[in-house]
Amino acid sequence: MQTIEKIDMSAVLNELGLKEVNFGSSSGRDSFGNTSENLIASYSPVDGALIGKVSTTTKEEYEKIMSLAADAYKTWRKMPAPKRGEIVRQYGEALRKHKDALGRLVSYEMGKSLQEGWGEVQEMIDICDFAVGLSRQLYGLSMHSERPDHRMYEQWHPLGVVGIISAFNFPVAVWSWNSALAWVCGDVCIWKGSEKAPLCAVACQNILQEVLEANDLPEGISCIVTGDYKVGEWMTNDTRIPLISATGSTRMGRIVGQAVAGRFGRSLLELGGNNAIIVTPNADMKVMLTAAVFGAVGTAGQRCTTTRRLIVQHGIYDKVKELLTNAYGQLRIGNPLDTNNHVGPLIDKLAVDQYLHAISEAKKAGGRELVAGGVLSGTGYDSGCYVKPCIIEVDAQYDIVKHETFAPILYLMKYNELDEAIEMQNDVPQGLSSAIMTDSLREAEQFLSCAGSDCGIANVNIGTSGAEIGGAFGGEKETGGGRESGSDSWKFYMRRQTNTINYGTKVPLAQGIKFDL
Ligand code: NAD
Repeated sequence: MQTIEKIDMSAVLNELGLKEVNFGSSSGRDSFGNTSENLIASYSPVDGALIGKVSTTTKEEYEKIMSLAADAYKTWRKMPAPKRGEIVRQYGEALRKHKDALGRLVSYEMGKSLQEGWGEVQEMIDICDFAVGLSRQLYGLSMHSERPDHRMYEQWHPLGVVGIISAFNFPVAVWSWNSALAWVCGDVCIWKGSEKAPLCAVACQNILQEVLEANDLPEGISCIVTGDYKVGEWMTNDTRIPLISATGSTRMGRIVGQAVAGRFGRSLLELGGNNAIIVTPNADMKVMLTAAVFGAVGTAGQRCTTTRRLIVQHGIYDKVKELLTNAYGQLRIGNPLDTNNHVGPLIDKLAVDQYLHAISEAKKAGGRELVAGGVLSGTGYDSGCYVKPCIIEVDAQYDIVKHETFAPILYLMKYNELDEAIEMQNDVPQGLSSAIMTDSLREAEQFLSCAGSDCGIANVNIGTSGAEIGGAFGGEKETGGGRESGSDSWKFYMRRQTNTINYGTKVPLAQGIKFDL
């Protein structure tokens, strides 16, 4: 039985500018006065304690924020991109300074391990570095005109106000993936963080505000709004926001995508996953085990890229079962701020109910628990959000297996031929991340070919979770089709313009069309 000493977060909260129980305005700065009656209370899933309360944004405040953003855009878009990159560089430096405190807040408010909390802040720093370089590389193509004395090229302009809606499980990193790119592209941002981790958003805003103030730049370059889906709906229906980048459940993405398309806006959707690892007889079992266990239980199964299905060749099935059972027996579940623990709590009791429901549905369909699940109670688990990672042997066709349950449940299933395994892997509505464990070049290439994995991410001898910022991140089908972060994802945040310049004295028409006056 483990115990959790009373966790004192006062130094962390002080450092991040979260000094009072009611942190005041939606911008985290009291610039609109603290008029709202509606407060979101943030309770830690780690020990159930109230961390603080944040006032929700009223419609009136929202309108003020939108006009601040529109004004700031006029200044920001005219600033040369490398100069905008310099501001992002300074933000990266500020994050380095506050990495420990912000990582601790992420861990305490969301429940992920401290290592992963720090890792999230590191991801923010990394994307800032990436964006700084990008600020000198927003390249357009130039092409040869078919007309004499003409020059033709493409250039990229900012879009305007970018609306960011984010999920609870990456309460700081996902925002910065979007905002760091959007800023260097010349956009200004409005961010609605998750109502389940509102303090993380206020903390990020406070850190950024210092950088903007030091450079005498307007606050409207990046604001936060706070609240639940209703505030999100103001954004998705707002024609002043040309791009909505929304991260969260497929349920949410379906509503947001339709609302934004209905007003001819652009949406970048990063939605649910149902990620699988295929294990072939040519797999290195040590590599497979670490990748599969971290993929399945890391962040207590609350990553969009969590490994939810393990598809194992029948000849090695019993061996894999034995290895997994032993590994799960060694997992330490408890306070995520204690770096000895592997698994922390789920975000809230609703998530616990969904976890229990999924286990019961899988068993009802005929599934067998290889490692039993359950809710942990007693000292150290007082929040009621700690659950046991479990493994269930299933048939790939069970309804529940095709569904994303945001919890540490690993479904184990058997295949005979690789073709069949790839078909099983693809036979779910989601298409985010996938992996194969094999030392066979032939198997790996089959998996990566156009007839292989249908996901946005396909890995060899790496688990499904833990992407780097340098690659474009996102998935197909019900995962929404968006791409964030590295590669050429920046193009989502800009509008393309084709320019043709005639430096001659005649007006020749394209396609040889004659029109003489
Ligand atoms: P959620 O869909 O409940 O909420 C996400 C955000 O959307 C919140 O800020 C919420 O307030 C807002 N929202 C909800 N309904 C809305 C509506 N109708 N209009 C506008 N905004 C609305 O998701 P969650 O529980 O916070 O996060 C878990 C989900 O997020 C999982 O499905 C996970 O796979 C997904 N996720 C995906 C990625 C990815 O990159 N693909 C990354 C992280 C999380």
